[in-house]
Amino acid sequence: MEQFRCRACHVSAGDLVLDLGLQPACDFFPRWEDPGPDPEYPLQMWLCAGCGLAQLASDPTLPEEPRGAEPAALVAQANDAVRRVEAAGLLPEGASVAEYGSPHGGSWLDLLSSRGLKPVCDGEAADVIVDCFGMMHAADQGAAISERASRLTAGGVLLLQYHSLEAIVRLGQWNALRHGHYAYYSAPALQSMLAGAGLAARMAWTFPLYGGTVLIAAKHSADGAATPDESVRSLVRAETSAGVRDPVVVAGLARDAHVRALALRQWLLSERAAGHSVLGYGAASRAVALLRSAGVDSSLLPAVVDASAAKYGLRMPGTDIPVVGPAELVSRRPSAVLLFVADLRAEVSQAYPEVVAAGGRWVDADSLGG
Ligand SMILES: [Zn+2]
Repeated sequence: MEQFRCRACHVSAGDLVLDLGLQPACDFFPRWEDPGPDPEYPLQMWLCAGCGLAQLASDPTLPEEPRGAEPAALVAQANDAVRRVEAAGLLPEGASVAEYGSPHGGSWLDLLSSRGLKPVCDGEAADVIVDCFGMMHAADQGAAISERASRLTAGGVLLLQYHSLEAIVRLGQWNALRHGHYAYYSAPALQSMLAGAGLAARMAWTFPLYGGTVLIAAKHSADGAATPDESVRSLVRAETSAGVRDPVVVAGLARDAHVRALALRQWLLSERAAGHSVLGYGAASRAVALLRSAGVDSSLLPAVVDASAAKYGLRMPGTDIPVVGPAELVSRRPSAVLLFVADLRAEVSQAYPEVVAAGGRWVDADSLGG
């Protein structure tokens, strides 16, 4: 780790706060008949002692993340966020707008166009620059923030939205760490990054999305009235006292990861010992690191059910566990179905009453060891 330098401020002082060992690319589900082994890459989070940015330590060359389906929650939040920014007077009609997108969806361009803002071409300057979960995908964070600053007109506003490190740590969301997501922002770290690019945060909003999403509005420092308002100051104070710059606090994620993996493994072992049949539900990328860290294979979890037909015939990356269709929930009569996406609980128990009717139960994977 001695040679590693911060992706934003380039100092080499920092701490490895989470090490998930070797992990497969969690977005690329191999075909079932592909025997593997799947390529694996180190997956580690490093916390910079200079600017405080939590970041991906290694930089394996991976294919770009495939564009996923846009979750409804992301669409609803975009509407909410645009309304709030508009109410703050930051979306003048006729202003030019540029957007840095994300493979996860959540574009604001349609919403902004309908309010009279004018999209510009790639690389052109704009009065409003929107970045929703985009910048975290840049390996060179210093270059990414500088590029955004260089495209921002005098008096313009940069709107940066991200899943907050404070929420990740508070909620033990250790599997937010994934290849291709290079940065895990906190308000103090972002303040430092913005300053390095001649920008300053002016306002901040928080949203419940993902347990804690933050939107920061920043302007050129030279634009006068350089002091952040109370929304920014209180956010920075709260996050700092929560310990987002403290490697001991952020390393709590490593403990969470260990506890969750161990609990999952022990639960599966005891179910198997009791002769119970178990299925998984939800072939989500977030389940990959959990299964891998827990050393789960098809002898412990014979299959993961998913509603998406595009995933049938595939297997969970880094394991021999096949992804199968919901018909198996009926035919296999599982005594327990392990749910990897807790948000789906109400939906799946309604959609598949056969599970409970046959004496089975739904178990949230997140509740094991939680
Ligand atoms: Zn740094």
